[in-house]
Amino acid sequence: MLTLLKNAKVYAPEPLGKHDLLIAGGKLLAMESELTLSGSIPHRTVDLNGLIVAPGLVDSLVHITGGGGEGGFATRTPEMTLTQATRGGVTTVVGALGTDATTRSLADLVAKARALEEEGISAYCHTGSYQYPVRTITGSVTDDIVLIDKFIGVGEVAISDHRGSHPSVAELIRLASEARVGGMLAGKGGVVSIHVGDGGDQLDPLLEAVATSEIPIRQFYPTHINRNPGLLNSGFRFAEAGGVIDFTTSHNQQIIDDGEVLAAEALALAINRGISVNNLTMSSDGNASLPIFSRDGELIGLEVGRVDSLFSALRQAIKDFDVPIEQALTAVTATPAKVLGLAQKGRVQVGKDADFICVDPASFAIEQVWAKGKQLVVNGEPACKGMFE
Ligand code: ZN
Repeated sequence: MLTLLKNAKVYAPEPLGKHDLLIAGGKLLAMESELTLSGSIPHRTVDLNGLIVAPGLVDSLVHITGGGGEGGFATRTPEMTLTQATRGGVTTVVGALGTDATTRSLADLVAKARALEEEGISAYCHTGSYQYPVRTITGSVTDDIVLIDKFIGVGEVAISDHRGSHPSVAELIRLASEARVGGMLAGKGGVVSIHVGDGGDQLDPLLEAVATSEIPIRQFYPTHINRNPGLLNSGFRFAEAGGVIDFTTSHNQQIIDDGEVLAAEALALAINRGISVNNLTMSSDGNASLPIFSRDGELIGLEVGRVDSLFSALRQAIKDFDVPIEQALTAVTATPAKVLGLAQKGRVQVGKDADFICVDPASFAIEQVWAKGKQLVVNGEPACKGMFE
């Protein structure tokens, strides 16, 4: 079945003006200022009446099988459901294990990614773990990336964090080499997703790894860079050296009070400093745990990171921090797709996957979401649910 979307205001993410879009076989088949199909060709027409059409969001870090557990077994967070992603316009997710690679497994992660794919969105994941030596399925990071379809990189591996294994610079170089070769052999990104904690080393281990090896800086993809103002500055230097940095959009009030910079604000600060949006991304860290502590450090509550915080941060960057729409969009679509090596994703372009968000130009609220040519959100509400929702 062909689908013709009429009267779209396209941001590819760069603004292209008014276009009609023809979807077939899950791909964008044609995009012209005016497209008409003869009545003898079976098709569905949807008039978008001037809605903004932008690429579906690419969320580069979601704990799709759940995360947390740092306050005991009862604090393990639940799996992500399909509509938690689609409600927020996320049509591509990259799953990873979190702090717990003991009761959570890579096999489960691959199975969940395949389930999300069957339910309608695109899902990939990273082999490896917070801890070093990293967990694998085959015994080798390279082999995992080459042989297992869903693995596109390794991580999130923790540095500068008391919960990580404090990998040495030599170990980070070895890990990046293994991921890089796996990526080359399989035609994938082979990126090393790096969780950066509160520790004083900040991004120094990565800068040293790049300075003392042949590993390109873009092989490392550090996240949580808006965790505190000091790390943010370290991240700016990393981006100015050619690296790509990622800001986390799941927050709670206590995390902000403790010094985390809003992802939308961090994006605006970076852009105002002259850093290209090709070096900046945002991700949700969805389904991670967001602990709430009392004044004397006792765990008194637990919230769960939300995948739809990614869209909220996009909207906030545009509405509250005056980031131009195309630049804010780039940080959650084209740039993460490029870093991750997802050639079919992140752009509204003929031949690429038909993953779109349709947004009201005044309120910037999501009206429709399309993934692989199928409409998953109608009038702002999910039209398709996951198997157990
Ligand atoms: Zn993390």
